[in-house]
Amino acid sequence: TPSRATSEGGPPSRSRTVRAKAPGKLNVSFSVGPLREDGYHSVASAYLAVSLYEEVSATSVDGDGITVSLRATDAPSVPFAESMPLDERNLAVRAARLMADVTEKPTGLHLEITKRVPVAGGMGGGSADAAATLLACDALWGSGLSREELAHLAAELGADVPFALLGGAAVGLGIGDELTPALAPGPLHWALVLADFGLSTPTVFSALDRLRAARGKTPEEPDGVDPRILQALRSGDAEALAAVLRNDLQPAALKLAPQLADVIDQGAEYGALASLVSGSGPTVAMLARDEEHAIELADRLAEAGQNSLAVHSPVHGAKIVSDLTR
Ligand code: ATP
Repeated sequence: TPSRATSEGGPPSRSRTVRAKAPGKLNVSFSVGPLREDGYHSVASAYLAVSLYEEVSATSVDGDGITVSLRATDAPSVPFAESMPLDERNLAVRAARLMADVTEKPTGLHLEITKRVPVAGGMGGGSADAAATLLACDALWGSGLSREELAHLAAELGADVPFALLGGAAVGLGIGDELTPALAPGPLHWALVLADFGLSTPTVFSALDRLRAARGKTPEEPDGVDPRILQALRSGDAEALAAVLRNDLQPAALKLAPQLADVIDQGAEYGALASLVSGSGPTVAMLARDEEHAIELADRLAEAGQNSLAVHSPVHGAKIVSDLTR
């Protein structure tokens, strides 16, 4: 068995790289309840995983630190990918640190992230990085944690991380982390419009609280997801889904970024079945009749100067794509 080089000038050490991917998400229904004492809002959300994947390569390295870098890709790049923090604030680093603590592994680790989900775009890109990292570290360190144990760790990292692990379609209660898988044979096709700016999730929630206070409205505890949403997902009926899409955060996102109203109008003008701000925005998701329609919509939006792409849903959750030793 090869031994690791520990001193300079020795043979190059063999290193193992596990690569995992996890999807971004849309919320096809998002009901926001009152602000809780812990600073979160109670929500009822219908999540849908879309075919835009983050990839994380986890490589064992000498030493005991965790480092992270952004992979330069030649694919159409995500706006502001370079604004992703490359320190302990990075959700992937936090996920690896948590796995290392729980499994008591020596940490020498490098993470390389391929970004495809817009940063601060309301599509859970950082959460997808965290989910992919949990899976990659589990494989790299042979921790053998169950999916359930991984889901517990995911919930410690953030409200959207458990869904990035699970994928498919699901109802999320609590702060969005208490998941029940939903039946959604799909496929549903979307054109996404990526913004050239980000919106901070806590800022959008605060804006919603202010809007509600100004109207003297006290929100009720959300009592689940509209059954018509779940029925439309079950039947894969894009027209039916278009009629019932809901995002309580949308007025707050539009208040902070009024130009998103123009994007939504553009969707209507170009024949989208419906357009909706994704999560806390600013990404706008436009529902199409089928794949051809989604591509046509994305092309027209691109011609009009938007950064747009066609995606489908639902797709699988976090999974390992390769495991190499060199
Ligand atoms: P949310 O899941 O809250 O909807 P989002 O999808 O809007 O989040 P993310 O890109 O996941 O946005 O992250 C929001 C912020 O978190 C970023 O502005 C960035 O500062 C920080 N961040 C931490 N780790 C990451 C990461 N791996 N990728 C992107 N942003 C990260």
